[in-house]
Amino acid sequence: MPTQDHIHAAALAKRLAPLPLDDRLAAIAALPGRIVFTTGLGVEDQALTGAIARLAPGTRSRFGLATLDTGRLFAETLDLIAATEAATGLAIARYSPTPADIAAFADRHGVDGFYDSVEARHACCAARKLRPLARALDGATCWVTGLRRGQSGARAETPLAAFDSADGVTKLNPLADLDIGAIRELAARAGVPLNPLHARGYASIGCEPCTRAIRPGEDERAGRWWWESDAKRECGLHVAPIAAIAVEARP
Ligand code: SF4
Repeated sequence: MPTQDHIHAAALAKRLAPLPLDDRLAAIAALPGRIVFTTGLGVEDQALTGAIARLAPGTRSRFGLATLDTGRLFAETLDLIAATEAATGLAIARYSPTPADIAAFADRHGVDGFYDSVEARHACCAARKLRPLARALDGATCWVTGLRRGQSGARAETPLAAFDSADGVTKLNPLADLDIGAIRELAARAGVPLNPLHARGYASIGCEPCTRAIRPGEDERAGRWWWESDAKRECGLHVAPIAAIAVEARP
């Protein structure tokens, strides 16, 4: 059953749809409460970071940037966090897993036990990503992401805005309907650095042991958890808010 939060978010999605990106960001900045943009430093996130950096100071300051430093990121990604801060003047808060959560996972599954089963992999993502994300979103009313429909079949219905009941926030995906060409153009125009791994075939980049380069014709996210058979594999950060999507789809 959709709540008022779902209905308001669906109305917001309709309002954002015809707007160019800068106006979408201005409309998001006008929403009440704390706004958190979680960046994984992928090309979409970099394009969005660049767009935020170019907003007027009063609008730009409404966005708090955060990233999940899982402890298993590529060295190139860690370097990119600092390079992005230097290029844009924006601070990116790092949220890491707790030593207790890492130790509990390692005791039960082994440090690299995520290869052994989907359940173990989800447990690792919960410790290294979901719990740090919960801390990043603590007290937030709005969660901004760089999700895009063209990234994978699992993301094909990503709404521009939807109420995320699980996290208790309005989730905003202002790049949802843009294609990869538009994203690359935005990133280039903003002058933000990109992960050098993209040039080596890594389309979507997560933790080092769980990411490989993709082959021509493969889905952009085919290199994530490639050993698993579920085509819709995700880390659990972005679970589709089904009720909100249903509301948005109404005429
Ligand atoms: S992507 Fe891999 S290493 Fe990173 S949190 Fe998930 S299972 Fe663990």
